[in-house]
Amino acid sequence: MKEVNCEIIQDLLPSYIDNICSKPSKKLVEEHLKSCTKCKAEFDNMNKKMDTEKLSSQDNQIDYLKGYRKRRNVLIKLSILLTIIVLTMIFLINVFNSNVLLDIPLYVDVNKFNVEYMYVKENKGINSSTGETYTYKTLEVYLYSEEYKDNYLTGSYKFLEGDKEIYYNIASKKLPKGVEYTCCGLETSFKLEDSIERIYIKDNKNNTKEIWNKSMKVQSEEEWKKWYIDSYVPKEIKDLYNMSYDNISISTSVWKDLYNKNLLNTIK
Ligand SMILES: [Zn+2]
Repeated sequence: MKEVNCEIIQDLLPSYIDNICSKPSKKLVEEHLKSCTKCKAEFDNMNKKMDTEKLSSQDNQIDYLKGYRKRRNVLIKLSILLTIIVLTMIFLINVFNSNVLLDIPLYVDVNKFNVEYMYVKENKGINSSTGETYTYKTLEVYLYSEEYKDNYLTGSYKFLEGDKEIYYNIASKKLPKGVEYTCCGLETSFKLEDSIERIYIKDNKNNTKEIWNKSMKVQSEEEWKKWYIDSYVPKEIKDLYNMSYDNISISTSVWKDLYNKNLLNTIK
């Protein structure tokens, strides 16, 4: 009888431990465990086992949660990174669309540029330590590019007396927002030094392009002024500024800007 009871009790033990058996069964198990060392040992053993199972399932949950946190942290970091990238791109796009561009040295391919005209200019400087004035010469070059139609490149190259070859570096020149330039060709260059034999433009990848050599035509300053005013300056501008061959001092960018913007009528 006792053996049968033990079998029944042991069948009941799992539900007893889980606290899902009926009240009479519960009472029966408790009564039996008090007197039966065999079933008590089985109960203790089972109890222990279930505790470890519970614990390991809790550990699994904790591990799962840890993994979840890790994945969530990675996601948060990724979205922060993505936000930074997008904001940086928006910033850069704005920079490149604005005049901030003017202060950034640009790479411009020499092959995409042509010379509008150039000339040698005499400049006066003052020696800061002695206060004496001195003269120096610069090659003034006006460049244009189909690619940068809305911009123009100008700049000067200070050269030493007797320089035979000039490398005019266009890479660091600014591209101010200006007016559209059209080509008028190298034959319009004037007043180049006798010593100069070749002139190149050079970009910052050291690509060079010869833009002038001694076999090409060079005008005198007077010829150039006449050509410039006759062929290039609109009649209304000539009238407006009373432009003569001796006076082309009005900045070309000023009148070209006015002309292109059709503002002439408003200031007349
Ligand atoms: Zn028993």
